[in-house]
Amino acid sequence: MTQRNWTTTDGYQVMTGWDRMSRAPEAFFISISQPCKQCNGHGVMDTAGNPHPVDWEPSDEDYDGSEEKNYCGNCEGQGEYFLFNNLSSQAHRDGLTDLLGNMSMAQVELVIAKYLTEIPPAWRDDILNDAAKQAEPIIKYYGQFGSIKGTPTDPEDELDDIPF
Ligand SMILES: [Zn+2]
Repeated sequence: MTQRNWTTTDGYQVMTGWDRMSRAPEAFFISISQPCKQCNGHGVMDTAGNPHPVDWEPSDEDYDGSEEKNYCGNCEGQGEYFLFNNLSSQAHRDGLTDLLGNMSMAQVELVIAKYLTEIPPAWRDDILNDAAKQAEPIIKYYGQFGSIKGTPTDPEDELDDIPF
């Protein structure tokens, strides 16, 4: 799997690449996410339903699995809030991935056009090259490029209104 990643100036991580091991005809992928602001990236809230501080560290008790966790509803306990996740069933229902989360270049570009204002200049050649050359695993970080289109105050509401 290759990774061709960048971050946006408004704090989102864009992860794209090409998955050599996939048997899909075109095995590209993209996800756009940032640490969840509602739970400060922890995935769980405290017992009162409030977010833990950013620098909160779970204790051993938090890991033992014996008590019910107060999972964050905004990120479904992942700690990461996704504007787009190629591995989600929603992405598949929207016709943007196959059942396993693989995407064609055209599908990746649809997602980019919908969410992002800018991409790294070398990105397109690089990722097409990965596929053409059956590239070995590589992780390339381009730096900061562009931002998320619009400035949704509540991304979850906003997304429902934008048809593909
Ligand atoms: Zn959360």
